[in-house]
Amino acid sequence: MFSLDTTENRPPVVVDLPVGFRGTRERVYSPTVVDPTAAPGLVIAPANNMAYHVRWGFTGEWALLHVGSGLPAIGAIWGAGLGHVREAASLLADTGIDWTASRDALGATPRVRELAIRVHEQVSDAVRQARPVRLRESSWHLVPPGWLALVVEPGGEKWACAALTTYTDAENLVIRHGVGDVLPGYDLEICRESEPNWALRCARQHCRNELLDDEEYGPLQDTDRREIEAEAREQGWRHLDDRRLLCPDCSHQFQPTRPVLDRY
Ligand SMILES: [Zn+2]
Repeated sequence: MFSLDTTENRPPVVVDLPVGFRGTRERVYSPTVVDPTAAPGLVIAPANNMAYHVRWGFTGEWALLHVGSGLPAIGAIWGAGLGHVREAASLLADTGIDWTASRDALGATPRVRELAIRVHEQVSDAVRQARPVRLRESSWHLVPPGWLALVVEPGGEKWACAALTTYTDAENLVIRHGVGDVLPGYDLEICRESEPNWALRCARQHCRNELLDDEEYGPLQDTDRREIEAEAREQGWRHLDDRRLLCPDCSHQFQPTRPVLDRY
């Protein structure tokens, strides 16, 4: 009953999933769009189930299925959202197991069960803590000191008119906009900033989101981390600990879908 189908020019991937019973025993299947994963042979499907023994429907959760058999690749993870299930698939992909093998072959492969249990535990812990499994060491990274174009007034006073990332950019600006021609007695100079800046990226490994300045000119950079943290809070970033923050996208994806109790 379980089949995998792809359309001409790529996904969606469609599988037949159980959506109810005919009579008391016979299962009814329906073609359902599923999410391919990093592990060939495993897909993420909406978890359909019988609610309150009354009717079948989407539970609001997601199942990681073995395509060959249509059965779950790991046990259901209480409260896991889509982000956590995708991460479980990615962790299973990294085990080196060939998940396209048949269920019997997987059952006969040493370590499959042990690895599946380990991934289940890792992801369950992450769900309880509302965070991804794979985190960077820190969200903070240093940006080398930039270059400043300074206007030099006739009296010798200097002030910065532009901050640039590379010396070449600063040089080009000075050549293009030399003020000496327009304002006699004025000059332009280049100097290097004295301190490196901090910038913030999402704590989840593989997420490329950086905190942007509020006008989206680019990544927000500042010598003072407190300024950056204040802006991050403003933009909906969430603290995981004192070194790591999640971007709003990941923060949303890595919240439990239902209340999860801490294990004591
Ligand atoms: Zn992120």
